[in-house]
Amino acid sequence: APPPGYVGRFAPSPSGPLHFGSLVAALGSCLDARRRGGRWLLRIEDVDAPRTVPGAAEAIIATLSRCGFEWDGDIVWQSRRTGAYAAALERLKAGGDVFPCACTRREMADSALTRDGSRRYPGTCRNGLPPGRRARAWRVRAEGLIRFDDAIQGPQQEDLAADVGDYVVLRADGLFAYQLAVVVDDAEAGVTDVVRGADLLDSTVRQIHLQSLLGMPHPVYAHLPVATNAAGEKLSKQTLARAIDAHPPGAALAAALDFLGQRPPAGLARAPAREVWDWALANWTLADVPRRRHAAAPEFT
Ligand code: GLU
Repeated sequence: APPPGYVGRFAPSPSGPLHFGSLVAALGSCLDARRRGGRWLLRIEDVDAPRTVPGAAEAIIATLSRCGFEWDGDIVWQSRRTGAYAAALERLKAGGDVFPCACTRREMADSALTRDGSRRYPGTCRNGLPPGRRARAWRVRAEGLIRFDDAIQGPQQEDLAADVGDYVVLRADGLFAYQLAVVVDDAEAGVTDVVRGADLLDSTVRQIHLQSLLGMPHPVYAHLPVATNAAGEKLSKQTLARAIDAHPPGAALAAALDFLGQRPPAGLARAPAREVWDWALANWTLADVPRRRHAAAPEFT
């Protein structure tokens, strides 16, 4: 059989409208897929129901369409995939890779912080629930050194025990964790290449770890710089969200191309979206994307 072709995806969380930072991730992932003759999928990551804003998914889809994005196949909604996540958890249980955990946030308040600012699990329930305690969440036993070569950010490595700690796959509120959902969905869709914002770089080792435990293939990862405001903070869903819909799609796309180091010709920002796409599809070069985790968003408005 021929080797499977490139499959990429864009996977927004519907916690607000599409902002400049997510436009960058959508465009980078789409162009990389199309330039390599690949498929490009759209998945709405509404697994975290409490953070899902009603109407946000529809608004994101409308903005993508307005900007000229075309995805392959049906949109996948994580809220409809609970059965697949439950099956993956059962496999982890069967392999002895997860354990039930009774700890509350307050009980972990004194433990060390991990790189992403959450508390490293102190190991209390690792070898069995303490007497009289009830399982709230399920955690993965995190051990070993994970290395990967990011196509933009270069070689990465993390020690799971020291840098991450035993991480949650089924939350105390009964919802499956983003880390598990992403891994199950990427594998089922046959995703070969994950192009997304560098804010997710710290999640990648957990995802690679889960792929190994579940016997799933590892995609290639490419983490794009994340757009920040003048204060250096990651863009909120509010700041440049409105700007994207308030301006011609060609201008927003050209600004995103420029942010990604693609050097679009000066007049392109005033061109119709179709022309911007034509230029981008002919000129996209992953190697030109700046190798940094953050960069200031442009003033394209
Ligand atoms: N849903 C995640 C976000 O919007 C992205 C997940 C991914 O690309 O793996 O931040």
